[in-house]
Amino acid sequence: MKILIVEDEAKTGDYLRQGLGEAGFVVDLARNGVDGLHLATSEDYDLAVLDVMLPGIDGWQLLQRIRRAGRELPVLFLSARDEIDDRVRGLELGADDYLVKPFAFAELLARVRTLLRRGTKAKESDLLRAADLELDVPRRRVTRSGQRIDLTAKEFALLELLLRRQGEVLPRSLISSQVWDMNFDSDTNVIDVAVRRLRTKIDDAFEVKLIRTVRGMGYVLEAPE
Ligand code: CA
Repeated sequence: MKILIVEDEAKTGDYLRQGLGEAGFVVDLARNGVDGLHLATSEDYDLAVLDVMLPGIDGWQLLQRIRRAGRELPVLFLSARDEIDDRVRGLELGADDYLVKPFAFAELLARVRTLLRRGTKAKESDLLRAADLELDVPRRRVTRSGQRIDLTAKEFALLELLLRRQGEVLPRSLISSQVWDMNFDSDTNVIDVAVRRLRTKIDDAFEVKLIRTVRGMGYVLEAPE
């Protein structure tokens, strides 16, 4: 899941980027409205977190332009101003939620997950399955043959991607852009190590192996016929 943050306050932006990254999201951070608009209309995001007071294009204008460009992603507004007018204006313009600064990170994360769940409900299932492996997206829970498996945030994101596209061979470049958002050439080893760890957790103790390496191409998750 990919999130765009537009926030000019360096400290808040860095804090959000780090926190959401650790929660398993791929995060892009723009520090002004112009860069934010460029990213929002040229990349595919599952959600945007927009600060209201921004230099250049402010949060309101940014949201209008994002909607005008036909982007329907859920938007969470951040504002230092706790005024009812702002809230009403934001929601009228098509923001999906509104959070007043200062806020606890746990609160933001909860809102983000709720918005993503709402946004994805129509197109994607919350419960992903392959053979006896189950991944419950909203509950962040993974089981195999009914046994609970603990995954890190990145492992969870990796498994979610493999499950959503099961049967498809996913090249490392795609995995890296969807799960790590990093330069593929510099760090392919990170993906191999993560896949190995994931296999240890979901495949090693079971007779039927779900994740396969396709030499020279990438990885695939597939339940055998
Ligand atoms: Ca600001």
